Amino acid sequence: MSVATGTKKHVFAFTEGDGKNKKLLGGKGSNLCEMTQIGLNVPPGFVISTVACLEYLDSPSRELPAGIMDEVRAHMRKLETQTGKGFGDAKNPLLVSVRSGSALSMPGMMDTILNLGLNATTLEGVIAQTGDRRFGYDAYRRFIQLFGKVAQGVPDERFDQQLEAVKQQVGVTEDVALSADDLREISERFLQVVAETTGRSFPADPFAQLELAIKAVFNSWMGKRAVDYRKQFNITPDMANGTAVNIQTMVFGNRGEDSATGVAFTRNPGTGENKLFGEYLVNAQGEDVVAGIRTPKPIDWMTAEMPQLATELAELRDKLETHYHEVQDFEFTIERGRLFCLQTRNGKMNATAMVHTSVEMEREGLIDKQEALLRIQPESLEQMLFPRLDPEVRAEPVAQGLPASPGAASGIAVFDADRAEQMGKELGHKVILVREETKPEDIHGFFAAQGILTSRGGKTSHAAVVARGMGKPCVAGAEGISVDVERREAQVGASSFCEGDVITIDGSTGKVYLGEIPTVEPDFTQELDQILEWADEVARLQVWANADLPDDARRAVRYGAVGIGLARTERMFNAVDRLPIVIEMIMAETPEERQAALDRLLPLQRADFKELFQVMAPNPVTIRLLDPPIHEFLPDERQLERDLEALRSLSETMRGVTVLEGAIGLIQAPDKHRAEINRVRRVVDPILVEAAIAKKEAMLHKVRVLYETNPMLGHRGVRLGISFPEIYRMQIRAILEAAADCAKAGIRIQPRIKVPQVCTQEELLWVKDYVDEIHEEIKQRDGRPVDFQFGTMIEVVRACMEAGSLAEVAEFFSFGTNDLTQAAFSFSREDAENKFLPLYSQSGILQNNPFEVLDIKGVGKLMELAVEWGKEIRPDMHVGICGEHGGHPDSIGFCHRIGLDYVSCSAPRVPVARLAAAHAALLAG
Ligand code: ADP
Ligand code: MG
Ligand code: MG
Repeated sequence: MSVATGTKKHVFAFTEGDGKNKKLLGGKGSNLCEMTQIGLNVPPGFVISTVACLEYLDSPSRELPAGIMDEVRAHMRKLETQTGKGFGDAKNPLLVSVRSGSALSMPGMMDTILNLGLNATTLEGVIAQTGDRRFGYDAYRRFIQLFGKVAQGVPDERFDQQLEAVKQQVGVTEDVALSADDLREISERFLQVVAETTGRSFPADPFAQLELAIKAVFNSWMGKRAVDYRKQFNITPDMANGTAVNIQTMVFGNRGEDSATGVAFTRNPGTGENKLFGEYLVNAQGEDVVAGIRTPKPIDWMTAEMPQLATELAELRDKLETHYHEVQDFEFTIERGRLFCLQTRNGKMNATAMVHTSVEMEREGLIDKQEALLRIQPESLEQMLFPRLDPEVRAEPVAQGLPASPGAASGIAVFDADRAEQMGKELGHKVILVREETKPEDIHGFFAAQGILTSRGGKTSHAAVVARGMGKPCVAGAEGISVDVERREAQVGASSFCEGDVITIDGSTGKVYLGEIPTVEPDFTQELDQILEWADEVARLQVWANADLPDDARRAVRYGAVGIGLARTERMFNAVDRLPIVIEMIMAETPEERQAALDRLLPLQRADFKELFQVMAPNPVTIRLLDPPIHEFLPDERQLERDLEALRSLSETMRGVTVLEGAIGLIQAPDKHRAEINRVRRVVDPILVEAAIAKKEAMLHKVRVLYETNPMLGHRGVRLGISFPEIYRMQIRAILEAAADCAKAGIRIQPRIKVPQVCTQEELLWVKDYVDEIHEEIKQRDGRPVDFQFGTMIEVVRACMEAGSLAEVAEFFSFGTNDLTQAAFSFSREDAENKFLPLYSQSGILQNNPFEVLDIKGVGKLMELAVEWGKEIRPDMHVGICGEHGGHPDSIGFCHRIGLDYVSCSAPRVPVARLAAAHAALLAG
């Protein structure tokens, strides 16, 4: 071995490479090593490490690290011995593929070259050896095109034009119909294309080809596609850095009817069903399946078509799963009846399939419960709560394709990725990206689209794989649709749709509909219940929900919430039947007037709370006293001004009507006019108009009085409760009376009163006085106490600093991390997100948006201190979080570590949070 002095070993044979070292060898490379070492039939080859790639990319003039080509030559010699072929040999030539592959799978984002080693001489050898001219030229033209594109930067279209020209000339539409001579002509034209485009002839020397190909694959790591992909999926250098290069002996799936190529999942990636799932093409090379050039056959057909190989494939599947303890997504090629495995990786599946396979593999004994939980990304569970088409709605599909990625979506049709981005991201429309087939360069269109529809390609086509990874609905291979990108229009049988027309796709059935079809909420599957039950067994953190209305609470309970951490009373104030009373309460000029309005609100709030308690019984319900500044319940100033203007001009009109009435005598108009004028007056009563004007004027006045420069830091929360004690008293009474009613009815409940925006102990004591007084009164009345807790929101920096003294009064803390984040950064959320946060995260000043991902270093530190100081004073202090962060898996991990008791999040996040809480416990060990 030629390990030159001082240089590291950069190249590893499949027989020696460390199958666990994905960072060094890439995912593809390490798995090729591992599969070779466990005895699967892998075409021999070797891996050049990612370290070599980084050294190459770092070198000023893009030079391969010293000694690498020597190592490569040594390994090529070994390959020659192993295969009995010679690289560049005229009689028995060795051909190889040069394949990219980084630590994380980035499907189609980097480049691979097949059939390398072909030139005019070796081609003759291939032809002589196989006795198949057609095969030889087919391999040759594929090589020239791939090499030309990847290593020499020749645009694909130039090749495609020539291919199409020859096809037209001989009158065929499918590649398979081309004869050996046609393919020879195509190869010659391709060589010409390369010479014309690059100004140099196509390299004939195999080692020269190899070196260029290695560099090209390394370069593809920094290609635009790959860079965009990493950015979009937040792939950082510590996750994947550089691509490895795999050099592997070619095997041919295009050697005739006893040859084939395919891709398969060991289980169904859409449903998780324990059944081999995949597609294959007879007499084809690997890339044909992925590219969607021919629509492949379902793997089931193999049993009839190639029974012996179907059995071998089933064995391969079992070996892969038994070894990896995970569903595998693998590539295979059959060359003249011999099965080879060319790649394997953990299967990317949607959440439904992940959950299904977790439960099944645990039952099969392939994995244990911990593994079953840990292999599912908590975030992905949200997919399972995706909408489906309303089964009640009868609609006729216009086309049927393959159900490639489940879920239903409606949107306007767009026919290319740039338009999708424009209409979707910039203009905010819901769009469905409609393509004949998709390519890696369409990726930005996927991000912008609600769903993907293609007219060609199978369930393992690019569109299907990418959509599944993103959890977006996809219908693939809807062959009834013919897409005309130029005219931005698609024909479906007799009908058609154009860009901008709404269509609906159902990725679970493969059906396509014109127009929008309503969707319904999905149900919880039994398997998801099972997984979440296991999660609850290991989690220490409880998951509660933020729910304001009984319906939200019911949904939260269905999703497994065991408490309400935040019920916002203002939502109840905003109901149509309440708002006028609330406005009256705000407009009141005296405490008596205000009390009168509050007296009408009391029974309504009491009924609200009672229902919430009942829905959640016997679990806790935390009700937050009124928080927003009260002018939020009034219309805004401009609106009131416009209303007044309209009313005043109406009043003026009515004056005109009165004048007209008086003038009737003067102008001697017939009497019937007088009657009509009176009717108008009855309809628009001037007294009513004046009353409306007076009311609106009073409201406008109030709005101006209540105006605040910075309402979020203004008269809100507990400050409001102290300046208008009647409001908080009413709410406290409603809570305690509702609780007393429930207790009387024998319903076990745990009410909690939570005070917002507190920054001093005195504020808390002030409100506690109201509570004690009202509680005392109810105790006297009913002859028994109400069981409840009194606590505070922690959402002001000073509250964190004063946690110890607040704990003397509060029985629980509840972190309001939305406001606490604003306060800690001095960022107003809306302004930050609209103005500078995108720039901050782009330029790396902030890693994440702190309103989405809890800022552990700053806000987290404040929380940690508050917990510590609070528990010093009150060791059994119950602590939770109710900001949006409570539903974010990373933040949940942090909450676990600092010893919170629960996280509270919106109902649809509850399943995510339950699994995240389990992960937190398992990973903390
Ligand atoms: P990607 O990462 O984009 O899937 P691959 O390196 O896997 O790229 O290669 C693209 C296609 O070429 C795959 O279908 C693969 O199976 C096929 N292929 C790669 N190397 C060989 C080989 N040595 N013999 C036959 N087919 C190959
Ligand atoms: Mg591959
Ligand atoms: Mg708040």
